[in-house]
Amino acid sequence: MNGKRVFITGSFQGIGLGIATVFAREGASVVLHGLGDETVVANAETQVKSAGAAKVESFVSDLKDSLATEKLIAQILEGGPIDILVNNAGIQHTATVDQMPREKWNEIIAVNLSSYFDTMRLLLPPMAARGYGRVINIASVHGLVASVAKSPYVAAKHGVIGLTKVAALEYASSGSRESGGITVNAICPGWVETALIQPQVQARVEKFGGDHLAGIADLLSEKQPSGRMSSPLDIGELALSLCGNSAHNITGASIPIDGGWTAQ
Ligand code: NAD
Repeated sequence: MNGKRVFITGSFQGIGLGIATVFAREGASVVLHGLGDETVVANAETQVKSAGAAKVESFVSDLKDSLATEKLIAQILEGGPIDILVNNAGIQHTATVDQMPREKWNEIIAVNLSSYFDTMRLLLPPMAARGYGRVINIASVHGLVASVAKSPYVAAKHGVIGLTKVAALEYASSGSRESGGITVNAICPGWVETALIQPQVQARVEKFGGDHLAGIADLLSEKQPSGRMSSPLDIGELALSLCGNSAHNITGASIPIDGGWTAQ
């Protein structure tokens, strides 16, 4: 990844930071992004620099605001082109359809789906002009199957998979085998241990009288046959494998990393 510049949304923590760390280890220049105070940003930068990034930049910007995203992308492009875009930022709120607050629907659709459209519409054309580009959309198993109490999340993630396929088709013939081409793919993780799932983990831990391991085992036993969570670095390794020139013909795919969840 020497000479490549990768932009990862929502990368000050969790899966985004794991992906940033893997690309840093391979010598990429990393553009971090998300919401957070100075300490959050500084901690993420330290981790990515010490992993070996050629350069680390950070931008704090709210993806719910499309105009702010246009400014963000313009600012990032002032520093040079982006070779790899990882759309990763996401939020969750669990409640049944009848109990889901209307504003939560709007927020989740804005962050988990519309922001992916914004970054792609702004960054795919310059990628096509250069003959190489990778878009990796972090969807979810919930882009492929549903669970109760996650209506906006499941709707957004199914939307990300549709958006991924359309963009993959529109850019399929750009570039060449030698230049690497433009590919657009979705990664569909099952359970990954991050802050996003903590409320769901905590509910299970309480069910088992405070036993953390028993709570996690109960959560996994419902849907993830491996019985193991993925780590953010596992997701980073899968993203990296899509970025070599030899992956020029992997496009429009939705790749599960879910311990067998969607094989059932
Ligand atoms: P996380 O809560 O640890 O991190 C989310 C990141 O998104 C943070 O950096 C946060 O600052 C950023 N973000 C949230 N709202 C934002 C906004 N309005 N503007 C800008 N940035 C914003 O979550 P995570 O578990 O690392 O999730 C990352 C992605 O992986 C999400 O798209 C999530 O849906 C997906 N995912 C997670 C799991 C899991 O089990 N953790 C499973 C499948 C898919």
